[in-house]
Amino acid sequence: MHHDNHEYDYEKLKEVGKISYEALQYAKGLVKAGASVLEVCEKAEEFIRGKGMVPAFPVNLSINEGAAHYTATINDQLRFSDKDLVKVDLGARSGDVLGDCAVCVDLSGKYGKLIETAEQTLESALSKVRAGAELNSIGREVEQLAKRNGFQPIRNLGGHAIEREELHASIFIPNYDNGDTTKLEEGQVVAIETFITTGEGSVTDSDIVQIFQKTGAASTRSPETRKMAESIDNQYKTYPFAIRWLSKEFASEFGIRKALNELNSFGVIESFPALVERSRGIVAQAEKEVIVEKDSCTVVTK
Ligand code: MN
Ligand code: MN
Repeated sequence: MHHDNHEYDYEKLKEVGKISYEALQYAKGLVKAGASVLEVCEKAEEFIRGKGMVPAFPVNLSINEGAAHYTATINDQLRFSDKDLVKVDLGARSGDVLGDCAVCVDLSGKYGKLIETAEQTLESALSKVRAGAELNSIGREVEQLAKRNGFQPIRNLGGHAIEREELHASIFIPNYDNGDTTKLEEGQVVAIETFITTGEGSVTDSDIVQIFQKTGAASTRSPETRKMAESIDNQYKTYPFAIRWLSKEFASEFGIRKALNELNSFGVIESFPALVERSRGIVAQAEKEVIVEKDSCTVVTK
């Protein structure tokens, strides 16, 4: 049992959840056909900072067959179109307490049923969340409802425990019955997130990589790399950051990537490529962060 001592400040968690939810509503309102992806990312991140917190990770705006981990590039020229299904996934952080929630915006008017299915499967999964619930039973619920509506759940994306300092901790909460009978524990903090698609139901890495995380120390002799490592340590610690964030301080993307590559050679960089549905199906997502209670759960991102 690795959750004997959660050591969670639940009051702080609820504050982080509230700001995360407010930022999600704010960002959702900015997603319109013709709007700049870069501007929506930066405004949503600014909103969180304006509340005295920081983004727990770069704001993700994944479009259509994009499932997760797309954040605006430096000088991103991409604009939303009236054919898009947009996933907004974000969270606030205060100290080591992390928020995580997501919602869809349908700019096409075509994906109502898909989005509704993502939301229904999330609510259905949440109704199963309680101390003692087995992870695969939550997944089974999601899978059955998704298929009944004519869609597939994405098998290699799902919910996760959230620990202090760690967004994707210990457990994976599947969107299908993967046979994992691990039980949820009272007091555990988890993100329940369902991904539903018109495609086959799995995601793969794209060649777009904008989000990274520094996981340890490296003793490089290159002054440029050392300067960037120090800046990451000071500002983002071991939390995810975007190339775009570093560009405020380090002008060239080439230089930033060169330094990241060098740090990567020390094994202290984790990268998060933008994920796309393998068969290029359209993907909808819904996510809330909750505290597992004895007989139910309490949503904190509200
Ligand atoms: Mn998320
Ligand atoms: Mn999540």
